[in-house]
Amino acid sequence: MALYRTDAVVLRTYKLGEADRIIVLYSRSRGKIRAVAKGVRRTKSKFGARLEPGSIVHAQFYEGRNLDIVTQVETATYLPQLRADLSRYGRASLVLETIDYLTEAGEADAALYKLVTGVLAELDREGNPLVIPAFVAKLLALEGVQPVLDRCVNCDSPGPLVALALHLGGALCANCRQGEPLSDPARVALQHILDGRVRHVLETTSGRVSGELEALSTRLLEQHLERRLHSRDFSQHV
Ligand SMILES: [Zn+2]
Repeated sequence: MALYRTDAVVLRTYKLGEADRIIVLYSRSRGKIRAVAKGVRRTKSKFGARLEPGSIVHAQFYEGRNLDIVTQVETATYLPQLRADLSRYGRASLVLETIDYLTEAGEADAALYKLVTGVLAELDREGNPLVIPAFVAKLLALEGVQPVLDRCVNCDSPGPLVALALHLGGALCANCRQGEPLSDPARVALQHILDGRVRHVLETTSGRVSGELEALSTRLLEQHLERRLHSRDFSQHV
């Protein structure tokens, strides 16, 4: 009977039987974990409220043959504002869904764990519209697909650069235009974010450009996830 403890983020939960829930978590030391939380849907449950999507917990599990069983849960980081409004919760959901798509059981990744918990804490602090662009930029860098933004990836021209196609590796000039339209202020701000200067971008970027960046980074994320999902499907069928 093996017990183990780890810090973890709750990605999603779903009902099991009359009173139980299956909890899908992304853990610091074991990657993705699927575990049963017994009795959590009864009103007297000790830890039902600690196992909401977006919760960061310190938990103990009993290793099962198929699913592990949650035996203890403590809140590791309090995030009281995360569900305060729809925009914050929507952004948090996007982050949780992304991690669920990208991770597997038994594949721990300390950098990814730090990124996710950092983004959730930032969303709890403020409704900063650059949280998602910064998350996507760091995620793409971790995945080794950081886009080139200072020249056209098709013809090497310095610009003007007017579009962005992740599958081609970055920005494109007017002649080679493909993918998503990209304004020059958004391109410059995205470069600063990729270079880690999020604070600088926050201080110098208008609301309109922040909105463009958030929409653009969400579409880049979808493109990236779709390609990753397809490559995963492919690798499973050969
Ligand atoms: Zn070009």
